[in-house]
Amino acid sequence: MLYQQKVDLKNLQSLLLAEQLRHSRFGLPGVQMLAVFAVFGLVWFQVDTQLLIGWGMAMSLLSALQIIQISRAMRQKSFIDRPARTEIQLAVGAVVNGGAWALSVIWLEPQLPDMSFYFLLLLVTIMAVTTMAVISAVRIVYQCWLLSTLVPIAFLLSWQFDERPFNALMSLSLVGLTCVLLFVGYWVSQSFSELTKSNLERQAMNQEFSTLSENLKVRNFQLQQLRDQLAEIATVDELTGLRNRRGGNQLLELELERAKRTHVSLAVVAIDVDSFKQYNDTYGHPSGDRVLQQIAEVLISTTGRAGEAAIRMGGEEFLLVLPGAESDDAMKTANLVRERIEAAAIAHSESKVASCVTVSLGVVSYIPDRGSDISELIAAADRALYASKSGGRNRVTLGRIQA
Ligand code: GH3
Ligand code: MG
Ligand code: MG
Repeated sequence: MLYQQKVDLKNLQSLLLAEQLRHSRFGLPGVQMLAVFAVFGLVWFQVDTQLLIGWGMAMSLLSALQIIQISRAMRQKSFIDRPARTEIQLAVGAVVNGGAWALSVIWLEPQLPDMSFYFLLLLVTIMAVTTMAVISAVRIVYQCWLLSTLVPIAFLLSWQFDERPFNALMSLSLVGLTCVLLFVGYWVSQSFSELTKSNLERQAMNQEFSTLSENLKVRNFQLQQLRDQLAEIATVDELTGLRNRRGGNQLLELELERAKRTHVSLAVVAIDVDSFKQYNDTYGHPSGDRVLQQIAEVLISTTGRAGEAAIRMGGEEFLLVLPGAESDDAMKTANLVRERIEAAAIAHSESKVASCVTVSLGVVSYIPDRGSDISELIAAADRALYASKSGGRNRVTLGRIQA
C-alpha cells in the first residue's frame, strides 16, 4: 500500500506561523535593540544627544509594540483560525519596522562623516543578515522587512551618488545584497517549510502506527479470548455440561502425574447405563437425553470433594475421577452413585434388570508407578464394568490393574 500524504496545507501554514511568532517575539526586538546600542556607540558624539536618546526611545517603543502584537497573536491563537490575516499583520509590522530603520539612516546621513556613515551602513547590513535568522520562517515577512529597509537606503545613495566618494558603489552593493538576501531568505524559508512538513508527516505517521498497534493489541486480546473459549468448548460436553472425553483425558493425565509425584492413590469409576438402547427405543431419543442429564446431575452431586470430577466419555458412558481415594472410598462413592440413580426412579419398563433406569459400575484404585498411563487405568475400569454387566447389571465391581 502506498503511503498517503497526511499533512494539510492550512495546518502547515499555521505551524510555520507559530514558529515565526515564537522566534520573532523576543528575537527580532533583541536584534533591533542591539543595533540601537551599536548606533549609539557609533554616532554618540556626532549627533545631538537629546535627539539621539529620543530616537532610541522611539525604536525601543516600536520593539515593545512588536512584542505586544506578537504576544497577543500567540495568546489568541489567531494563527490557527485565520493564518492569512496573521501573516498580513506580521508583514505590516515588518514594513513599519524596516521603514523605521530606513528613515533612521536617512535622518542620520546628513549629520555623519563618510567613515561613520559607511559604518552605519555596515551595521544595517549585519542587522539584515541577522534578522533573517529570526523572521524567515514565513517568507513574506522577511521579504517585506528587507525591502522596506535596504531599498530606500539604496535609493538615497543613488540619489546622492556624487555627495560621498563611494555612494554609487554602495548603492549598487546594497541592491546586490538585497537580491542575495532575498534568494537566501527564500531558500531558508523553503528548507524550514520542508522540515516542518516532514515533521508533521512523521507525527501523522506515528499517530497512525500507534492507532494500528493499539488495534492490533485489541484484536490479539480478542483472539486469545476466542481461543480460550474454543479450547473450553472443545473439552466440555454440550448435553450434560460435564467434561467430554478430551477434557477428561487431560484431567486424568494431570491427576496421574500428581499421584505419581505424591505416591497417593488414584481411583476411577467407569459407569454405563443399563439397557439404554431399549430406553431410547421405548421413550424416544429426547427422553434418553434428559436421562443422561439427570445422571450427570447425580454424578456432580456425588463428586463434591476437591479434585473429584465426572466425565462423559461418550454415549451413555461416564467416568468418575477420584484423586486420593483408596478402593474402599471409591467403592463407597460408586455404590452411592448406583443407589442415587436407582432412587431417582426414572421409569424404564423395558429394562432387563429393573423397572427403572440403573447403571453398572467398575471401580479401580491404585498408586501409579513411573510407567503407568491412563489407558491401562481406563481399560481396568472397563473390565470391572464388563464384569458388572455380565454379573447381572445394576452393580459395582472392584477391578485391578493388570501387571
Ligand atoms: P447395556 O446394558 O449392555 O449397556 O445395553 P445398552 O443398550 O445400554 O448398550 P448399547 O451400547 O447397546 O446401547 C447404547 C445406546 O445409547 C445406544 C444409543 O442409542 C444410546 N445413546 C448413545 N448416545 C446417546 C445420546 O447422546 N442420547 C441418547 N438419547 N442416547 C444415546
Ligand atoms: Mg455402553
Ligand atoms: Mg449401556
